[in-house]
Amino acid sequence: MTLVPLACGGDDSSAVSGGGSSGTGRAQLAVVASFYPLAFVVQRIGGDLVSVDNLTPQGAEPHELELTASDTANLTDADLIVYLAGFAPAVDDGVDVEGKDHALDVSGAARLDLQYTPIEDGTQRAADAGARDPHFWLDPTRLIDVVEVVTERLATQDPTDAETFRTNAAALVTELQTLDQEYATGLATCTNRDIVTSHNAFGYLAERYGLTQIGITGLTPEDEPTPADLAAVTKFVEDNHVTTIYYETLVSPAIAETVASETGAKTEVLDPIEGLSGSSQGADYFGIMRANLSNLRTGQDCS
Ligand SMILES: [Zn+2]
Repeated sequence: MTLVPLACGGDDSSAVSGGGSSGTGRAQLAVVASFYPLAFVVQRIGGDLVSVDNLTPQGAEPHELELTASDTANLTDADLIVYLAGFAPAVDDGVDVEGKDHALDVSGAARLDLQYTPIEDGTQRAADAGARDPHFWLDPTRLIDVVEVVTERLATQDPTDAETFRTNAAALVTELQTLDQEYATGLATCTNRDIVTSHNAFGYLAERYGLTQIGITGLTPEDEPTPADLAAVTKFVEDNHVTTIYYETLVSPAIAETVASETGAKTEVLDPIEGLSGSSQGADYFGIMRANLSNLRTGQDCS
């Protein structure tokens, strides 16, 4: 998925700004998305009718995103900002100041109804108390609901191209439904249904496909586990004969490796798809979701 350069009537003067929706001709809608899965969805629905600016640089971890001056200018100038309220505090602040009137928060459509699940009952860390799990896109059916609200918003902003957006969205929804079926089938027969992960990003995926997630750290991957957390996870791994500890691509595997070496388990990648990087196991959302499924089927002993 490559970005198509702006091509507004052949005039590429950078002095002209203020978004692409004014005037005549086939201007692209300038959309700012706060991180990769949202940028992916907007690009697939909008095709070459939109230009998508992903606020999270490649290889960066979006929970801790800080905005540059040019990001702030892009928020101001965008025709539309697509973001997930509560995921990255700097983006929430930037939208409040620069873009409240042209922003779409997808958190309602994403149905963020899971709360952080502590490792042991009664030991939930204060920083995570009551926090909603933001990682909805790892359940394809929740991403379908977000596709629908993004599509209708694009259609409202660019009614001339509404049918194109809806056609593109229908194709994307079909692909997501196929992916959902692959997961349901592929994970139906796993011997072990407990997934031990380095960051609590897989709650919605686990819920959708009947797995139980045991996170070594909290909802943000930078959280350092306490010695008590590590001891609880190690005990869980041993008691439940867990053979694989999953780690992710954008943060160090050290914590997963610690638990693995103490228990004799293996480590394997499970990518929360918060962004692409050189070590991503797929080229886009679908490629990485399928790599995750393959790694889960191996790690959970699914026939
Ligand atoms: Zn995360």
